[in-house]
Amino acid sequence: MIIKIKCPKCDAESTLSLITDSYQGPYKCWKCRGLFSIKLAAGKFKSCDSLSQEEFDKLLEIEALKAKLSRQE
Ligand SMILES: [Zn+2]
Repeated sequence: MIIKIKCPKCDAESTLSLITDSYQGPYKCWKCRGLFSIKLAAGKFKSCDSLSQEEFDKLLEIEALKAKLSRQE
């Protein structure tokens, strides 16, 4: 499913395509390049936290690791 996300900082809209209707992970705004950790549940935007570059990189690492692990199953 495709979910629209509005950047909390600059209001730029972008879309995220998801396999399930919930998501929790890193998000980078294409416009203001703001870094966030976002949470979606049942196709709805739930919460969003600003991240530092360091925190964002860490989240990306975790996501990459998760993807790697799920491929091995
Ligand atoms: Zn933005």
